[in-house]
Formats: sequence, C-alpha cells, structure tokens
Amino acid sequence: MPEPRLAPLTAPPRSATSLPETRDGFKFRSGRLSLDFLATLAERSKPQPREALVSPLDLDRWLRAAGVQVRAAKASLADLLAARELREALYRLAQACLRQQLFALEDRKLVNRWAATRLPPRQLGLRPGFSVPEPEGVDLTQALAELARDAVALFSGATARRIRNCERAGCSILFFDSSRSGRRRWCSMAACGNREKVAAHRERRAARPR
Ligand SMILES: [Zn+2]
Repeated sequence: MPEPRLAPLTAPPRSATSLPETRDGFKFRSGRLSLDFLATLAERSKPQPREALVSPLDLDRWLRAAGVQVRAAKASLADLLAARELREALYRLAQACLRQQLFALEDRKLVNRWAATRLPPRQLGLRPGFSVPEPEGVDLTQALAELARDAVALFSGATARRIRNCERAGCSILFFDSSRSGRRRWCSMAACGNREKVAAHRERRAARPR
C-alpha cells in the first residue's frame, strides 16, 4: 500500500507527483497547498462566487483530498467558519503578492496566529517526496495551521514573485509558477490552457477571408 502523503510545507511544488488535478470534485492545480485552498471559492470575479466549502463535511473532504492527514476528521461549523476566514485572508495576502503591495495588518496577524500553532514534527518517508504523518494525524486546528504555514513560507520567500493568476477570462485560480522560464499562464494546461487555445483557433478561422 502506498504511504499516505502529506503536502510539503515549502517549495518544491506538488506537481512533482502525478496526483490528478481534480480530486473528490475539488481543483488542485496550483502546485501549493495554500493556493489550492483558495480555489475552494471559485468564480471570484462574478457577483456570486461559487463556494465549495458549504458544510463542515466539505472541509473534511477537501482536507482528505489535499492529503492533509486529519485525525478523526469531523469539522464543526466553527471550524468551517474559521477555515473560510483564514482562506479569505490568505487570498488577500496572495493578491498583495501579485501587486507587490504591503500586506494588510489584520490579515497578516490572523495568518501569523494560525502559523504559530504547534504542529507535530515532520518525519522522512521511504523516498523523496513522502513524509510519514503522525500515527494519529493532526487535529482540525493543526490542519488549518498547516495551510497557514505553507502560505507563510510561500509569501515570505522569493517564491512570492512566482504567484500568478490564471490568464483565462473568468478563471480566478491562483497558482505557483514553478516553470523554468517563469512564464506559465494557465492554472491548468489541460483545462484553461486548452480552452484558450481552442478559442484562439476559432477566432483565427472566423477572421480568415472566405
Ligand atoms: Zn484557469
């Protein structure tokens, strides 16, 4: 049986593995745990963004799909609200990274508070890219703390300059650009990249004189 996998807290991105981009209905395209979490609120540019974390059960499902080992996963309504509050703070901080702006004090305080939560130490697994989770896993608070820590690592290093917004109109997914050139444009080549290419092809054909 393959070892259970914990998402790494620091770069390199998880794209090094071949996990599917969609797991249990959630999108994991960004290459970073914390940015994937932001995608649970989709279509952010629309008046009615789409919430994927509707009930506490959804939070349990997302954490499992993300590979965060949560002990006796049963999120409460308070956990759900805290998770959404943390998510939106992380989103604003990521936007500040994109715009090279100062972080808002309230968001910084909230995320730093989460990141200060004590977590079980990480242990090496059998091979590169794998860690052994604590036998009992982490509790819900620690799971959210993992997200905050990943974001702190991402936003405080040179990696902050590699955060991108997908260029497809209407896609609000942020991702970590780990490409050598630093010119990745889409959250997913298979999804958004392909759709843009098809659209561009149609446009060229329509413009061609008959
Ligand atoms: Zn996209």
